[in-house]
Amino acid sequence: MGLLESMTADDCEQLIAFQNRAAGLRGFLAIHDTTLGPALGGIRLWRYATENDALADALRLAHAMTLKTALAELPAGGAKTVLFDHPGLHREQAFEALGCLIESLGGRYLSGPDVGVGAADLEAVGRRTSHVALESAPGLGDISEMTAIGVWHGLRACLDFAGLRRARVAVQGVGNVGLWLARILHREGTDLLVADVDPERARLAAQEFGARVVAPEEILNTEADVVAPCALGAAIDRALAERLRARIVCGSANNVLASPEVGDVLARRGILYAPDFLVNAGGVIRGAEFYLLGRADSHPSLAHIYDRMQKVLALARDRGISTAAVAEELARARLQSSKTFPQLTWRQA
Ligand code: NAD
Repeated sequence: MGLLESMTADDCEQLIAFQNRAAGLRGFLAIHDTTLGPALGGIRLWRYATENDALADALRLAHAMTLKTALAELPAGGAKTVLFDHPGLHREQAFEALGCLIESLGGRYLSGPDVGVGAADLEAVGRRTSHVALESAPGLGDISEMTAIGVWHGLRACLDFAGLRRARVAVQGVGNVGLWLARILHREGTDLLVADVDPERARLAAQEFGARVVAPEEILNTEADVVAPCALGAAIDRALAERLRARIVCGSANNVLASPEVGDVLARRGILYAPDFLVNAGGVIRGAEFYLLGRADSHPSLAHIYDRMQKVLALARDRGISTAAVAEELARARLQSSKTFPQLTWRQA
């Protein structure tokens, strides 16, 4: 499929392919939708095998951001930047060059962190543009912690819905968000299992929370009430969904389900699935409220994730469809109610 065909299939507003030869910078910036406001979305640095893989990732993740911001009732749309990681990447120079590109968009896009991108990278972006969420910004707080708090609210809703008072939770990936989630769960007295492809990270979680370490290839199908995928996307495919032992799937990873049908398998098996773009919205809620609304505290908004999750669970049960389908319908409804047609001008931040 060509670029324009891919964008049309995904209903993506704008796709920018960019490169800076001296810095070894190559990537795509997908602005999926700005109907509700400027598009928010992190920057991902990854060793993509092919250009098509990177393009597909950018489009998929940007789309998920639109659903996420719409469902969270934010005055914002969705976007994503993906960068090719490779030995010839001059990191600081590359992120500064990306900052220049973001600045040229005049506020249509507000960037932030995603997998593979650290604070120093964002500081480099921030030397060229103010349209980047910097964790060092006074009063912003830790975005990964906010994401984990949101996941926790979503998980509480699932536990209440399932009538589970105490649960054993298996966390896949104890990176930025997974570690915060493990910390919160530990405080709540939860029995924790953790896995990470980086053994040092798993060891730290075991040490800090007394968690039991499980092999990465076993964590999602281990004996637990809840699995919390907090690593990469497509963690649950059809085969795994058919044999999953947990009663609840609730984690931070974007695009957890390998395909939409996996959500139907989980629903048929009575497994409560917390749609990723609903429960992992904590970080973007904080970013939007801080940068767009000037709000000092986002904890009350994060707590609404509990109510939204409860609503989605009840609607899915009543209508006999998957939670993923319900959440997507609600997000699309908000988007459609704000769309004016024909859209003649670009919205500026
Ligand atoms: P991170 O890179 O800090 O952590 C991911 C962790 O998963 C790493 O420790 C990595 O070693 C581990 N991992 C990778 N593959 C694994 C596997 N197969 N099994 C076990 N462990 C594995 O990333 P993060 O910021 O914590 O984000 C985690 C997920 O949550 C990502 O999918 C991200 O897109 C999503 N997310 C993050 C935020 C945020 O605020 N950081 C917000 C929304 C969504």
